[in-house]
Amino acid sequence: MPRVMSTLIPLRDVRPAAAAPHDRLNRPLRDLRISVTDRCNFRCVYCMPKEVFGRDFAFLPRELVLTFEEIERLARIFVDLGTEKLRITGGEPLVRRDLPGLIERLAAITRRDGEALDLTLTTNGSALAALAGQLAAAGLRRVTVSLDSLDDATFRAMNDVDFPVDKVLAGIAAAREAGLTPIKVNMVVRRGLNESSVVPMARWARDEGYILRFIEYMDVGHTNGWRLDDVVPAAEIVEAISAVMPLRPLPPNYAGEVANRWSYADGSGELGVIASVSQPFCGSCTRARLSADGRLYTCLFGTEGHDLRGPLRAGAAEDEIRELVAGIWERRGDRYSELRSAATENLPRPEMFAVGG
Ligand code: SAM
Ligand code: SF4
Ligand code: SF4
Repeated sequence: MPRVMSTLIPLRDVRPAAAAPHDRLNRPLRDLRISVTDRCNFRCVYCMPKEVFGRDFAFLPRELVLTFEEIERLARIFVDLGTEKLRITGGEPLVRRDLPGLIERLAAITRRDGEALDLTLTTNGSALAALAGQLAAAGLRRVTVSLDSLDDATFRAMNDVDFPVDKVLAGIAAAREAGLTPIKVNMVVRRGLNESSVVPMARWARDEGYILRFIEYMDVGHTNGWRLDDVVPAAEIVEAISAVMPLRPLPPNYAGEVANRWSYADGSGELGVIASVSQPFCGSCTRARLSADGRLYTCLFGTEGHDLRGPLRAGAAEDEIRELVAGIWERRGDRYSELRSAATENLPRPEMFAVGG
């Protein structure tokens, strides 16, 4: 009798799919931003202005902040519901002690189809020179670093704690060395503060091979004194760069990509503009946010979060939390940026550092 050769199919961790929830506008729950702390060592003027976030500001006490174990449990539930991308953020995520320990836990999670998660982190870069190697070894795949100017005086004025730009540049270099690539760089452009840094930043990122994302200054929270006049619209940014380094539009990498992408006409690199104020993209927003104290926000401008820490600490079963999250997502109808108007201006909104940028 001929021997039957079994075909060896590599075993992958393909789990039976929990139904992937879609919200009222038929958007799936693809991305989760996890804020690991509401604290930060910077006081960026557009995010945590010093006058409000001074010495006596009451940040979350430690017992209210999710533990790594709790974050991992919730992340697994989100992944079961179809989440493919996890972004660690804050506050400043690198001020949370032993962050590589959390990365290690999250890197062990695979997507429902058995593929690797897109696991990334947004940081102000101040501690990256020290931590990039450990983060990469723990399984982080890439990083986004926020950098608002290459000009030291402008950068110090924007972070408002007199932090030198050189240290962030060293952090970015360390991330590249550690293989946390492709590296993205976020630059918030605020009228009157750093417009003159737009072209030098574009030139630098192109030369270094970093993907630069210009972000329109947003009306998150209430403490930054946002005014529409302070927003430099994406079109103006693209025009300023194109005048010296011609650009041509690129198609999106995937449906729902938030940045409008451009490449240099000579093929020497790409940049993006996140035009959440002048060209909102709520229709394709598949993003949820988990605050450091375990509240789920379905919109950056959501008026209130849904508490997940309570049920988690009360001993709720995995299935119960999964159903809770799915239900919250299915009731979602958020599209704040598309509706932004004088009428929405005074609605309560969470602060960016609290909900996770
Ligand atoms: N501390 C980290 C950092 O700065 O990268 C992560 C958290 S921060 C809240 C995430 C991103 O939000 C940063 O790129 C920051 O520039 C951006 N951001 C904060 N406030 C903003 C605002 N009012 N408008 C647009 N972007 C903002
Ligand atoms: Fe801190 Fe990031 Fe906010 Fe700046 S943008 S104050 S670095 S959380
Ligand atoms: Fe998404 Fe809300 Fe931003 Fe619209 S306003 S893109 S729904 S987070």
